[in-house]
Parts: sequence; C-alpha cells; structure tokens
Amino acid sequence: METKKKDIRALTKEQLRNFFVECGDKAFRGNQVYEWLWQKSAHTFDAMTNVSKETRQMLEEHFVINHIRVDQMQRSSDGTIKNAVRLHDGLVVESVLIPTETRTTACVSSQVGCSLDCRFCATARMKRMRNLNPDEIYDQVVAIDNESRLYFDRPLSNIVFMGMGEPLMNYNNVLKAIDMITSPEGLGMSPKRITVSTSGVPKMIKKMADEEVKFGLAVSLHSAIDEVRTSIMPFNATFSLADLREALEYWYGKTKSRITYEYVVWEGINDTQEAVDALVKFCRFAPSKVNLIEYNPIDDGEFQQASSAAVDMYQRTLEKNGITVTVRRSRGKDIDAACGQLANKA
Ligand code: SAH
Repeated sequence: METKKKDIRALTKEQLRNFFVECGDKAFRGNQVYEWLWQKSAHTFDAMTNVSKETRQMLEEHFVINHIRVDQMQRSSDGTIKNAVRLHDGLVVESVLIPTETRTTACVSSQVGCSLDCRFCATARMKRMRNLNPDEIYDQVVAIDNESRLYFDRPLSNIVFMGMGEPLMNYNNVLKAIDMITSPEGLGMSPKRITVSTSGVPKMIKKMADEEVKFGLAVSLHSAIDEVRTSIMPFNATFSLADLREALEYWYGKTKSRITYEYVVWEGINDTQEAVDALVKFCRFAPSKVNLIEYNPIDDGEFQQASSAAVDMYQRTLEKNGITVTVRRSRGKDIDAACGQLANKA
C-alpha cells in the first residue's frame, strides 16, 4: 500500500539532527541514524541496533525507508549481471554489473524510462515515467558492490551512468547520489571512477562545469553532422551541435577533464568518409577521445552495425589525426544487458 510517510533518506544529515533535537533527543542520534541509512544501508529501523527500541518505533511512525529490491538477477555467459530493480512504488529499472579481469563496473539507471527519443535505443521506447531519487541511484550501486564482492571477490571499482534515462534531465538527484557515493559517510568512492554519460544537454553540461565536479563526462555523439544527428537523435534539433560544442569547450576550460565521445557506426547512416571527417573536426574543439561502441540490435533491423571495414576506417582516420580511439565490444548481449537494450523485458 502506498504510504504517506516521508522517505527518511530525503533528509540531509543536518535535517535529521534537527529532527532529533526537536523530539527532545540529542543531535548525535541523527548522526547514528544517518550512518545506518547510508554507510550501513539499513533496510529497516529495527536493524539500527545501537538505537533504542523507543526511538526506532518513533522513527517508524514518522518515516519509511524506501529501499530498492533486486527482483531478478540474470547472469550472462560473459559474467555480466543484470538486475531488475523494483522501486517502492512498483516501477522497475535495470542496472548492470560489468566485470573485466581487473575491474567491476556498475552501469546504473537515473530515470524510469527516458525523456529523450534516440531512435536506436530500447529505453526510449518506454516513456519517461519518473526521475529516480538519490537513494534509488545509491542503492543500485550498493547492490552491485555486494554482487561484486560475492561473485568476484572484490569491491566495485567504477560506475557509469549509462543505464536507463538521461542523467542530466535528473540533474539534482544524480548529483546528490554522486555526493553520497563519493562521501566518506556513504561509499567513499573516488569521483575519478565515475562517468556520467549524456546525450548532450548543453545548459546542464555548463552547470556541471560551474560546480567543478570531479567525475568524468561522456557524450553520446554518434554523429557530428547536424542533419544526421537529428535524424537519429531528434532532440538534436533543439540542442544543436554548435550549442553542444560550446558547452563542451566550456566544460574543458573549467574542469580540464578530457571528454569521451561514444559513437556507434551504422550502415548507411554514418559509415562514410564525410562522417569521419566531421567527427575528427568535432574532436578538435576540446581534448577528447572516442569510444567506438558496437550496435546492439533492439528491433526490426532499421539500424544495422556497419561493416568492420567501416569501423576500421574510423579507427585509422582518428588515429592518423592523433585522436585516441578504442573499439568496444558489447557485454551481456545474451541477457539484453548491453547499451541501449535496457527496457524491462525480462
Ligand atoms: N542517456 C544517456 C545514458 C544512457 S545510454 C546517454 O545518452 O548517454 C548509454 C549509451 O548507450 C549511450 O552512448 C547511447 O547512445 C548508447 N546506446 C543506446 N542504444 C544503443 C544500442 N542499441 N546499441 C549500442 N549503444 C546504444
């Protein structure tokens, strides 16, 4: 049943301390509870064993802990794990654990569905239902950290915001979640191990730059030619490449952090010399590198991965122009866990 009680993790530490003072208790009690809520990821008030029974009952009367639940976990033959995560209101998002020899990367969602309309992405076919709260993003990371320790004997090492949703359309909550993930009062992870991936919302990229964030930025570029980009990512009509370029130059100027461009080469769409040349030119605007990612088919064959000759042509041309390029193989394809495949199918 839907409850009217407030999610206690919507409170800042200061607010929680004040709450206890107002109840005639010590502010310090707020610190204890805060630690249980974040660092210790308590799912219930009863788990807070150094807090008196009366206090736990009182908290129960005022608040809820809207914890996520991993409803279903699928494992790919390549070790990738996909979690279907149920939220307190019954909606579901997905997050993915991607293991390599040395790292475990969590790919987390920022929205239920997506506000944008990229034509090659399965998530875009679900409408945006709501933004995730900071604690719902944080909990996905905790769940994957636990799985990494359990199945790979090591903690989570990296986080990418490349699951469902457009992180910069849920800016405040994503930044709050990252604050908690990097805080010593949360998971204490280094921001250098976090990458936020965006389709490119210029205003928000500038805002992040102004806040001098310490995490990395990836931009899903896919084309450096406006007409082509608009045809596959229709919001590009509003947020044009010129605006994006300006925002990225601003970002680099403020943060000195190199930008990663994510790029899929599709047959008949951007597998031409003209397209590569445009990309090379775009890469010169701000220090950057290119990840050529494999297309993960989502449907009817409207989009098709370009030939390896076309991908080689991209790689050669970029390298010849002194631009760092990596060619990425997809992970977790057999369980629909690869980029752009997250659509709550399982
Ligand atoms: N909204 C954000 C993050 C989610 S998408 C963004 O656009 O960056 C994560 C990455 O997967 C993006 O680079 C996106 O362009 C890419 N992607 C989406 N659909 C894909 C597909 N079917 N195959 C391969 N990559 C895809």
